[in-house]
Amino acid sequence: MKVIGIFGGTFDPVHNGHLQMAVEAKQSLSLDEVRLIPCHQPPHRDMPTLTSLQRLHLLSLAIREYEGLVVDDRELQQDQTSYTIKTLHLLREEFGDQASLVLMMGADAFSGLDTWYQWQSLRELAHIVVMSRPDSPLPTNETLLSWMQEPDERNIVHDQPAGGFVLLQQSLLPISSTQVRAELKKGRGSQQIPESVARYIKEQRLYTGK
Ligand code: ATP
Repeated sequence: MKVIGIFGGTFDPVHNGHLQMAVEAKQSLSLDEVRLIPCHQPPHRDMPTLTSLQRLHLLSLAIREYEGLVVDDRELQQDQTSYTIKTLHLLREEFGDQASLVLMMGADAFSGLDTWYQWQSLRELAHIVVMSRPDSPLPTNETLLSWMQEPDERNIVHDQPAGGFVLLQQSLLPISSTQVRAELKKGRGSQQIPESVARYIKEQRLYTGK
């Protein structure tokens, strides 16, 4: 059974924390690939600083050195708000009922899961894997706690195509795109993004605030 990781985000810009999360999840769950899916227009936040195409370009530069990471632009193809449930339906149509889809997210994203459009149906289409981020504890919100119940063993992603809930404790880097944007705005450059990404940002004078 093909096991596909799905990692959505704004990626404004992609940083080493995102890349490490994708690589660690790929290794610890033995995923065939991880698809990084930039969102067109995130439902829960303000418009990104960069255009969709710029964010997509930075992602494709970033993944060049990583085998098994793939950039997937399907949310950018649609000129509307991105909803994960719709993306999962599209992925199911493409990969079929037998593929295992693994929706991965950091603990910070998970703590708002119960505000996502049709969130209770996500697990019918994919497994959910939550990775702890150093500064974000898991939610204590009653709705999510009762929905989570007992986490499953990580092998579930190889045993069935969807439905599992897995917690992965990993040594994730304390980085956010917000921090990276602030560093770039000050004109200092950032150590938290791959070199190819930093070079392109510099050449194009992105995030300078001008
Ligand atoms: P921002 O600071 O603009 O909110 P962000 O760094 O949190 O951005 P997003 O693109 O919004 O990045 O996040 C996409 C996904 O990446 C989310 O699931 C989030 O939990 C995860 N993520 C972000 N930063 C890290 C990190 N340092 N380690 C692991 N996962 C991360």
